Amino acid sequence: MKYNSTTDKNIVVSASQAIAQGISTDGGLFVPQEIPQYTLSDIEGLTKLDYVGRAKKILSDYLDDFTTEEIDECVTKAYTSEKFGSNNPAPLSYQKYGDIDINVLELWHGPTSAFKDMALQILPHLLTKSLKKTSPDKEAVILVATSGDTGKAALEGFKDVDGTKIMVFYPVDGVSPMQKRQMTTQEGSNVNVCAIRGNFDDAQTGVKNIFTDSALVSKLEENNYIFSSANSINWGRLLPQIVYYFSAYAELVNDGKIKLGDKINVVVPTGNFGNILASYYAFRMGLPINKFICASNSNNVLTDFISTGTYDKNRSFYATISPSMDILVSSNLERFLYHMTEKNDAKVKEWMTSLKTTGKYSVDDEIKTKITELFVGGFCDDEKTKATIDEFFNKYGYLCDTHTAVAVNVYKEYVEKTGDRTPVVLDSTASPYKFSGSVLKAIADGEELPDDEFEMVELLKNKTNTAVPAPLAALKDKETRFTSVVNADEMPEFVLSALGVK
Ligand SMILES: *Cc1c(COP(=O)(O)O)cnc(C)c1O
Repeated sequence: MKYNSTTDKNIVVSASQAIAQGISTDGGLFVPQEIPQYTLSDIEGLTKLDYVGRAKKILSDYLDDFTTEEIDECVTKAYTSEKFGSNNPAPLSYQKYGDIDINVLELWHGPTSAFKDMALQILPHLLTKSLKKTSPDKEAVILVATSGDTGKAALEGFKDVDGTKIMVFYPVDGVSPMQKRQMTTQEGSNVNVCAIRGNFDDAQTGVKNIFTDSALVSKLEENNYIFSSANSINWGRLLPQIVYYFSAYAELVNDGKIKLGDKINVVVPTGNFGNILASYYAFRMGLPINKFICASNSNNVLTDFISTGTYDKNRSFYATISPSMDILVSSNLERFLYHMTEKNDAKVKEWMTSLKTTGKYSVDDEIKTKITELFVGGFCDDEKTKATIDEFFNKYGYLCDTHTAVAVNVYKEYVEKTGDRTPVVLDSTASPYKFSGSVLKAIADGEELPDDEFEMVELLKNKTNTAVPAPLAALKDKETRFTSVVNADEMPEFVLSALGVK
């Protein structure tokens, strides 16, 4: 199977090239030329496998220049019970919110307690194998700009992976106390972490400037290094996310919640449109999905897009209590539009150019109608998010994080409005302990809270009688390894000196 660029179908690369390169030379994103088709009997086959078996089957259908042995190795190294707490890294938890049944897909049992682990535990293996095929003998330098979750998940994924070095840049005042501690105490011999004086955009621009600095790139090449990306535009991050939608469906069948062939709804708390796009690929492959419910926080650019057909990022940016969804440019929407228009690369290019130059674009009525037949958008502000955490826990006994709460609230309003009781899979994307302060404020209204992050974790544990993820608890006693803070324009020097290149 080959891959095309969303903005130029004449660009054709292999699976390993798509993963090694990350982004197409014309600035488009790589998409599979054909989407593999699964029949109900294929899906029935998946019900008889464990998660690793399901992942092997799905990945091998997309990565045809990988051998069976290579896929086996990637998958079995990624989804171990040591890393995910059991042999099912994406378990369902059957909950009730009032009279509404919610099948919560818990995607945060990995090493960094956010759903990014589902992809970033396997990406390093996919990437190193891809690089071996495309640029043998080179060592990969992975640069990451992060607003919190991606940085830590990438560090854990790439830590001590042969043939790679990873450097993460985060805004010095732009991440949560727990996220900062997670990154600055990172272990591993090939990792580096650096704070930037500036915001996330400055860090992101700094990384992009390094990628496109040809003098710097050739200096690295002379020293046998090659830059690569662990960003969510990489196909190698999207593909592993398709697996858990099939896996959740298989579990629902196995647990007698649905019959094979029954439709489900999916609800996804969304920022970059990556996770929900993975569910759309699953649908296009044949998974019976009825509606996609796209949940946003106050940065509701996607809600508006789904209801009006106009994407407009010219609006206020809100720093919310669900910070991993504070985003105004949902980069994976580009892939969605490509498939929705049945591969109209010229149209996608026109819209993306318009987005770059004017900050907005409008899709045709025909596409808009197709989108609203399948997708429902909704959003939830901080007050409702907190009220949802409070009610879900104090009335119905399930503790969830701020991002998951956004999805729960949007779903509840959807059911109340439409009466659609199709069985649901609702993605839970982070452990509540990653956002202890906000979660405590929601469930213990008005109480005085401690300043110290780990005292808050302790308090949340005592109040809710839930388990603190071991890797988060262990951070308390870890030594801080990384204290560098640089200006954004000093990032290239930081990279060179960290690599010992003059
Ligand atoms: C990244 C992230 C999201 C948003 O995921 P997208 O793929 O960008 O839509 C939601 N919740 C959490 C906790 C995240 O870390």
